[in-house]
Amino acid sequence: MRSSAINQRFGARSDWAKPLPSERMTGDLHGRTLPCMKPGAVAEAKPRQHSGARIVLAHHEAGHAVLSAALNDAPHQVSIVADAATHGRTTQRMIARPSSLAQVYLAGFAAEHVLRGRRPRQLDQEVGFSILARTDPELMKAFDGAELRDGHRAIGEVLRVVQARTDDEILLEINRLYDAARESLGSVWPAVQRVASALVEAETLSREEMFAAIGRDDIYRPVFVVQARHGLPIR
Ligand SMILES: [Zn+2]
Repeated sequence: MRSSAINQRFGARSDWAKPLPSERMTGDLHGRTLPCMKPGAVAEAKPRQHSGARIVLAHHEAGHAVLSAALNDAPHQVSIVADAATHGRTTQRMIARPSSLAQVYLAGFAAEHVLRGRRPRQLDQEVGFSILARTDPELMKAFDGAELRDGHRAIGEVLRVVQARTDDEILLEINRLYDAARESLGSVWPAVQRVASALVEAETLSREEMFAAIGRDDIYRPVFVVQARHGLPIR
């Protein structure tokens, strides 16, 4: 029952249903973690350092968390504490429509983009890799944790809507959703920044602590306006 319900939500592909080593299921049936893989940045992301990498990571997680709260489900927990496989993670149920979930997956990179004023190269690397791996499944197996990447998961959501698509069509859709995610976060940016600052200080936030950081800001209406402008339905 439980696993078939999860299959229904995440599609029948085994990478969605199978518990992965770095995946943390919450108590909710559809709870899952967005682990944010940051290869190459491990040395910079030491706890208790207000390094540039740590601030970027905090904004990355805050982006996932705030957009998920607006479009999907408020995270149970947001963290920038590194574990063996990931540098940070948000944990929430993934219950919204695929176009919203894809944006939640893309929101980490989108927040980095707003923060630094440029599109993160890692987004294009992950998306390009995932598109290549569609025709070469061995590629996926060769890279540990590739199935956990934000870019790969966003493509998984895009492919749930329409099955047979060309690479160019997938890229166009990813870019459209990425722009919507980036503009949505831009519309509530002070709230994202406060969640990121709270993360830099506390490292891990509960749902209540995240909303305390957001304060009285409306994180819904501005995001819904952006979604409507992009022709994206909500929930
Ligand atoms: Zn991420």
